[in-house]
Amino acid sequence: MPVIAIIGAQWGDEGKGKVVDLLAEKARVVVRFSGGDNAGHTVVNPYGEFKLHLIPSGIFYPQVVCIIGNGVVINPKVLIDEVDQLNQRGIDTSKLFISDRANLIMPYHTLLDGLEEELRGGKALGTTRKGIGPAFADKAARLGIRIGELLDKEALLERLRFILEYKNVILTKIYGVSPLSLNEVYSQYCQYGERLAPYIRETTTMLEEALAKDELVILEGAQGTLLDPDFGTYPYTTSSSPLAGGGCVGAGLGPTAISRILGVFKAYCTRVGGGPMPTELKDEIGDLIRERAGEYGTTTGRPRRCGWFDAVAGRFSTRINGFTGAALTRLDILGVLPLLKICVGYKLDGKTIDYFPGNVASLERCQPIYEELPGWQVPISHIRQYRKLPIKAQQYVARLEELISCPINLISVGARREQTIHKMPIL
Ligand code: GDP
Repeated sequence: MPVIAIIGAQWGDEGKGKVVDLLAEKARVVVRFSGGDNAGHTVVNPYGEFKLHLIPSGIFYPQVVCIIGNGVVINPKVLIDEVDQLNQRGIDTSKLFISDRANLIMPYHTLLDGLEEELRGGKALGTTRKGIGPAFADKAARLGIRIGELLDKEALLERLRFILEYKNVILTKIYGVSPLSLNEVYSQYCQYGERLAPYIRETTTMLEEALAKDELVILEGAQGTLLDPDFGTYPYTTSSSPLAGGGCVGAGLGPTAISRILGVFKAYCTRVGGGPMPTELKDEIGDLIRERAGEYGTTTGRPRRCGWFDAVAGRFSTRINGFTGAALTRLDILGVLPLLKICVGYKLDGKTIDYFPGNVASLERCQPIYEELPGWQVPISHIRQYRKLPIKAQQYVARLEELISCPINLISVGARREQTIHKMPIL
């Protein structure tokens, strides 16, 4: 059985949650490997509709071990609330584990996220203000606290004393706000530690065991490739790598262990927050897609910017991740449009280019070059076989496949598990 990574191929919100929920049926382990509770998956399954922020989407299968990997930053309060909410709705979380190496989001991270965004004014990044960026910055600066450290209260007190002294200087002297109390933060985090202790483990050995038994492991991506701090639209990016490569580091597996990498693409594009998006539609077609698809953030409720499928970005995403296949989601949404456009190149300063520029200022100046295809204009959510899709829908899928240089294995035509067309096997 392989390790399969499921990766957001655009700017996130592609429907990874549905794809993981679908494939997890055959899995032994699902590992979330990056981001924090700024990401959110909506999963619709026989138990209802669930909004998950930290817990992997495999949680609905009792046989699946779900791991929050070392590459995730964890707000313990959010995690505890998520566990409680799932339990209240009858979902068992006894097979949930958290890597002891995962870094914590501390109260100063959340505070500083908001203060820094305010200071940026008109140049704000549009972060979710949940402390994710500051927590990853502290991880890189060796000022982070790992969740495993909550289990040693004495050592925790010393480390927190040292870090909080430094953070309080920033809070009071730079931002002019009140300092945080060591006692309050310490006792709060000790309580979180007691509550989460049963879940905290060394988790890489759990992956090793699954691989030794030839069991399926899924690496569950969060956000999307174009938000990667190296390859996305920097600085309008997230702060941990949502790429397949990030999956190795964030879960604790070697690259050779991964045998399939599935890119999840929406049939059009969306983006939340600031930063360039060459195919954005600021007209009634964009509004129509947003309303028809309910394109509002799972975590923040913010309206998502909507636009045509960007195949230049798509092909870049395939290359940077090494996709072996793709899932195309939300094809049903396009069923009302008489004409569809796909961006096949950019016009940059009078020249035609077919690559995704690394420089955000260049990308801002890129004008999309479109290819037009006729729309199918009929509902398709009830269709389960590829050959039963309207020919015009098949032509759209085939053209995307060609442009992104990657076979499309699976097509999603609705939020529910069964609203899926298995075009070709993934495993
Ligand atoms: P994720 O973070 O990548 O999992 O994406 P989100 O959860 O933010 O957004 C995906 C949304 O689309 C969820 O509300 C899903 O239930 C829904 N969804 C997934 N696939 C499809 C589809 O093919 N058609 C429609 N209409 N909705 C879908």
